[in-house]
Amino acid sequence: MTIQIPFDNSYARLPDRFFTSQAPTPVAQPALITVNRLLAAELGITLPEADDEIAAIFAGNALPDGAAPLAQVYAGHQFGGWSPQLGDGRAILLGEVVDTRGNRRDIQLKGSGPTPYSRMGDGRAWLGPVLREYIVSEAMHALGIPTTRALAAVTTGETVLREAALPGAVVTRVAASHIRVGTFQYFAARQDVDALQALATHAIARHYPGADGPLGLLKAVIAAQADLIAKWMGVGFIHGVMNTDNMSIAGETIDYGPCAFMDAYHSEKVFSSIDQFGRYAFANQPNVAVWNLAQLATALLPLMEKREAAIEVFTEEINRFPDLFNTAWHEILTAKLGLAETEADDAALAFDLLTAMEAGKADFTRTFRALSGEDPGLAAQEFDDPAPFTAWLARWRERLTRERRDPGERPAAMQAVNPAYIPRNHRVEEMIQAAVSGDYALFFTLHEILRTPFEDQPEHRAYQAAPGAGEEVTRTFC
Ligand code: AMP
Ligand code: MG
Ligand code: MG
Repeated sequence: MTIQIPFDNSYARLPDRFFTSQAPTPVAQPALITVNRLLAAELGITLPEADDEIAAIFAGNALPDGAAPLAQVYAGHQFGGWSPQLGDGRAILLGEVVDTRGNRRDIQLKGSGPTPYSRMGDGRAWLGPVLREYIVSEAMHALGIPTTRALAAVTTGETVLREAALPGAVVTRVAASHIRVGTFQYFAARQDVDALQALATHAIARHYPGADGPLGLLKAVIAAQADLIAKWMGVGFIHGVMNTDNMSIAGETIDYGPCAFMDAYHSEKVFSSIDQFGRYAFANQPNVAVWNLAQLATALLPLMEKREAAIEVFTEEINRFPDLFNTAWHEILTAKLGLAETEADDAALAFDLLTAMEAGKADFTRTFRALSGEDPGLAAQEFDDPAPFTAWLARWRERLTRERRDPGERPAAMQAVNPAYIPRNHRVEEMIQAAVSGDYALFFTLHEILRTPFEDQPEHRAYQAAPGAGEEVTRTFC
């Protein structure tokens, strides 16, 4: 039996200038790495039995019935510089399904060949980024963070030229949609108000059905992004390329390129090899979000009748971001500290821990996980110089005396928000190296561990470890 995907392609019904119809380019020798059967079931997809049939679909060699393959057009600010036309240069939207929970989801192949938006690119992806996206996006989901999902990964049997000749691969990505801040910017820059209106109507109906017009849409996206970025920071995630074309209107984490989770805490941590000035550094992510959301507000302005008044109202909304973000961030931090109640100094207590962690080069994930254990004092082991931490620990313990929650309940509550496992960058790199030489065992191990990141999994303790001397991977490439 061939694959059955219950497509209902609403983006393909938008005006012609939103996309170019484009079929994936077949690859030499599709081979299945993995398919996400739970996600497939959630999407209402019936998979064929044979792996080679599944591989053919997710390599783009066979087009499932009902697909309407297309490349979306968008624009964007990349590192602050304006690009009037980007678009899916190596991705093709097969179509959309309404999943078993009633949510509309995009199914997109990434690495599926050139499109009219490829510019100088080859339209392809190599195995490394494909596996990184698969592992990290699925881990983010398991960590409770809004994200695109990974449905399948296949190798192509072709070589992709990057720094070296590398094995080609395709990842199938599932998203609430692929509408970006840059999609609005594209039409706004062309003063195509009709298209802008159609896009806003589509985005509201799809993502924020209660939102009232462009202002309501803007408010909803601001709230979603404030929440998302606080959640990223709560697990030490650094996106790495928060260009406006990589910011989803739906509020999902999207476009896993040079992203990474930090090991030792540092507020200015950067991994991406192309982020020379730290624009997308860990603690700068909320600032960049404001910048990006201001671009969205600007792009929505042509839809407003009274332009001057709208500028004022939109500016007020953008200025609300810091409060929304800080509220979400403080809630996450205080939950990470096991505080069920709120006191005025709680955020300061959390920030003082971060300061001590930065000075003591303490591992972000391990410190919070250790604090969640029966003996929080063990967290001292994470610090170069434990003295500032020990002083902080006394303050935290004193604060805990004013909690009304049964102290016996605290460790479990903290362990439910402080993961034992994250996709550590050196483990991801190690997994990619092994896969390039044909060994996928580490890929499957990492994937399995990260399905339940809040569980101790004593048999996998080694994956809780921070990188040892010489093991740390400090640079990521996309
Ligand atoms: P990104 O930095 O991955 O968000 O990509 C920025 C733009 O470059 C998007 O329009 C991508 O579609 C395009 N792009 C990235 N890699 C390639 C490639 N290998 N071939 C064609 N286009 C690409
Ligand atoms: Mg078209
Ligand atoms: Mg992108």
